Amino acid sequence: MTQRNPSFTVLSQNYLFPEVAKRKKLFLEQHPGVQLINLSIGDTTEPIPGCIAEELAAAANRLGTATGYSGYGPEQGMESLRTQIANYLYKGIVSADDLFISDGAKCDLGRLQLLFGPEVSIAVPDPAYPVYLDGSLLQGVKKITFMPFTPENNFWPDLAQVKGMDLIYWCSPNNPTGSISSKEQLTLLVAHAKANGSIIIFDAAYAGYIQDPSLPRSIFEIPGAEEVAIEVGSFSKLAGFSGIRLGWTIVPAALKYRDGTSVKADWKRLISTIFNGASNIAQAGGLAVLTDTGMQAVQRTIQFYLENTALLKQALQKLGHNVYGGTHTPYLWVRFPEKESWTAFQEVLEKYHLVTTPGSGFGKAGEGFLRFSAFGHRETILAAISRL
Ligand code: PLP
Repeated sequence: MTQRNPSFTVLSQNYLFPEVAKRKKLFLEQHPGVQLINLSIGDTTEPIPGCIAEELAAAANRLGTATGYSGYGPEQGMESLRTQIANYLYKGIVSADDLFISDGAKCDLGRLQLLFGPEVSIAVPDPAYPVYLDGSLLQGVKKITFMPFTPENNFWPDLAQVKGMDLIYWCSPNNPTGSISSKEQLTLLVAHAKANGSIIIFDAAYAGYIQDPSLPRSIFEIPGAEEVAIEVGSFSKLAGFSGIRLGWTIVPAALKYRDGTSVKADWKRLISTIFNGASNIAQAGGLAVLTDTGMQAVQRTIQFYLENTALLKQALQKLGHNVYGGTHTPYLWVRFPEKESWTAFQEVLEKYHLVTTPGSGFGKAGEGFLRFSAFGHRETILAAISRL
């Protein structure tokens, strides 16, 4: 028989969310009739605003006409969408030519790892969104250093411990801790990458949740970042496109490998080899998001999720928990002292009939925490609060 890719053996046994689903199912089998409230998986719940849904429908309808039909588009994405992201969302701080439209941030985070090969050394936040680590392990990466993001270090790891790492993964606003890096912190991070010849892979999937204009929404707000960073963005949490699938990656022309060759040139080569461009319907929807009307509409939905988060945060604090995050993210990072995450998960499940996400599933430093997601209809969040 054909050999299995040995990298699969180093992945942890169960991916986080399937394990949560398994435990939920088991609980429901043992307690039939109980209505569980799911505050676990970070997925949007509110409908896409009408002005955007209509454009998605119109784009689909155009495909049914002789004049409106189109097949494959440019692998890098529609020029109009790249330009609109660069000019409207990024206010011209990035070039449309360095922007690559994708079918989502997660897919690109996986594909990006192909640029660097298995010998690369990586620094990964702990806790972190799982694809940074698991995607790297699948590529056979072995040199891995974890950067703890904890309340004790104010969610700011000691960069001296990741000196000389080839790649540094960073996520702000952060999933799962809800923390956010300030401009001063990102300036230090960029300076560190420059001094050490590292490349930062910056995950900005939740940038749309930042409400304070003094906080950076992009690593490219930091001067010089174009020489040391790649940024991944997404319409999923910005506009409820998690099912439609649309994102982007910025690989600046100024970013070079150690041998002086262009990272962007390889990224272009890579995506034209293994990716055939994002859906043209999704891209038409993306263009509808990036208008004044579209942006106001999606910001109203984001405000709604942030209100959910504030309500849930209050309720958890009233119970005496230390609660982190929730200001510029839909996530609350809640400490359960002296408890393992899976024990706390089970207790919250049994006592309040709430499904959460165990912090340890995001990394060792997440032990003793649960992540509460505030994506949900208002009545669901209020019901959860009344149970608490
Ligand atoms: N990055 C982070 C930090 C996320 O939390 C998520 C989704 O939950 C993603 C990326 C994935 O985004 P997309 O839906 O664009 O693949």
